[in-house]
Amino acid sequence: CGKQEAKPAKVLKVGSEAAFAPFEFQDESTKEYVGFDIDLIKAIGKQMGAEVQIQNMGFDGLIPGLEANSIDLAISGMTITEERAKKVSFSKPYYKSGLTMVVKSDNTSIKSFKDLEGKKIAVQLGTTGADEAKKVKDAQIREFNSAPEAFLELKAGGVDAVVNDKPVNEYYIAKTGGNDAKMVGEPLTAEDYGIAASGKNKELIAQVDKAIEELKKNGEYEKIYVKWFGK
Ligand code: GLN
Repeated sequence: CGKQEAKPAKVLKVGSEAAFAPFEFQDESTKEYVGFDIDLIKAIGKQMGAEVQIQNMGFDGLIPGLEANSIDLAISGMTITEERAKKVSFSKPYYKSGLTMVVKSDNTSIKSFKDLEGKKIAVQLGTTGADEAKKVKDAQIREFNSAPEAFLELKAGGVDAVVNDKPVNEYYIAKTGGNDAKMVGEPLTAEDYGIAASGKNKELIAQVDKAIEELKKNGEYEKIYVKWFGK
């Protein structure tokens, strides 16, 4: 068969686990999906002449969803990993992240990752945070479907720490006024977020990369970044 012209799909079905503020979450009053990733993917869609439809789903359902073609893309604060790249195609990195720990504000015993040994740790299912926590010696890992559930467990005293993405931890702490919890430790990892497409859809990823490049050139990416993270 001959070469086909790269035509953008008119509707882009984009999967996201919308409980990961400030990247994707539901606005409490409007119930709309908002966040850095949401603004970014909408801007990308606009560049591509496509309408973006967000589908809220479990984080561990995103890659299977891409593999089954029930979604075209996934944007969900998803770290580009070797393991995942075997199954899906990733865009170029669009955000630099990494893992840190959150403990109760009155905790004085956990200051570094080493201090997690033998402790109870809450993580989100299927994430890089879960992978790293599982490497900690003698730790008891509790896996939750979402980051907010992991934070709730910390608040309830069921675990000693949460291992999760730094910008999400920072947002949670700022949102709760720093009364319940604090972030400790240097980032354990350096991670890059990428937008994912089905492994076969290299063409779509090439279009996404081109759109991101354009948004970086025309200042739109910067605008979205400043809106959610400040300067
Ligand atoms: N960045 C982490 C990962 O990719 C967490 C993502 C998330 O929970 N949305 O595993």
